Amino acid sequence: MADMKKVLLIGTGGTIASEVSADGLAPELTTEQLLSFIPAISAICSVECIQLLSLDSTNMQPKHWLMMASTIRAHYEEYDGFVLTHGTDTMAYTAAALSYLIQGSPKPIILTGAQKPIGFESTDSKINLLDAFRCATEDLPGVSIVFNNKVIPGTRAKKTRSKSFQAFSSINYPDLGVLRDGRLLRYIRPECGSELVFYSKLDTKVALLKLTPGMDRGVADYLLERSDALIIESFGVGGLPEEGGFYECVGEWMAKGRFIVLTTQVENEGSDLGVYLVGHRLKRDLRVLEAYDMTTEAVVAKMMWILGQTKDKAEVERLFYTPVAKDILWEEQT
Ligand code: ASP
Repeated sequence: MADMKKVLLIGTGGTIASEVSADGLAPELTTEQLLSFIPAISAICSVECIQLLSLDSTNMQPKHWLMMASTIRAHYEEYDGFVLTHGTDTMAYTAAALSYLIQGSPKPIILTGAQKPIGFESTDSKINLLDAFRCATEDLPGVSIVFNNKVIPGTRAKKTRSKSFQAFSSINYPDLGVLRDGRLLRYIRPECGSELVFYSKLDTKVALLKLTPGMDRGVADYLLERSDALIIESFGVGGLPEEGGFYECVGEWMAKGRFIVLTTQVENEGSDLGVYLVGHRLKRDLRVLEAYDMTTEAVVAKMMWILGQTKDKAEVERLFYTPVAKDILWEEQT
């Protein structure tokens, strides 16, 4: 018992903690109640709890990401690892955001949740929670999602199934490991970098626009009037349509100091803006930022983190292409 690892469980809500109400599932269980469903935990680690939030993750806001990071910061020295229970709907955004807000952590920071509440007869909650605690006691630096037996890097996760237990995929990067019969089989050990750094500022004025055929610049203008950065999810390896005034729009707003990132709607393999005429001009003449193999969730969180630190164009560009927690395989793109 003496050398048992100490883990802090931070509850934020989600399906895992939900109960049936007349108006649908609502997150009502406390972290202590969650723990009471998994008595086997006492053999894995000693757990203390903080009930930080009780939200459906649809209601999660960047201010809540900052709360999670500051809670971990406040208790960092006291625990060997951290488990956050969280709704699945925006878990990938939170995992990415925490990867930028807490950099270089040698200790594991594990997000988990479930597609079915812990009180249901058929549920993924118990196994996910137990696996999360197992991972929180391992040498697994940084932020990861543990879900359906898989360990996914926080910057690479995407919710790719809305109902089945296999809700998350690691995009353009392998899973870090799998859990088999209660043991972590590791494929990759993430590096944690040399220095632990917590950040406490985000610029939330980052907008995302999914391009559709026939769209014109009006909607981009609307978003750029209200934002410091616009991420455009374009088609294929990336580009903008010649009709609709997009090239002028991008040039005008970049001259006014806005940041524009081009990414792709295609889930796998990322962008390569230089390939086609429709993208090449954006890259060569307008010098937009390009997401390459990053997930949209990571791009949103990374831009919020970067613009929370600086608005200097060269510095934003430098930080954007500097890999953080394996979010971008930049060296291999150039
Ligand atoms: N709506 C829920 C949430 O994201 C879904 C879940 O947790 O699976 O909080």
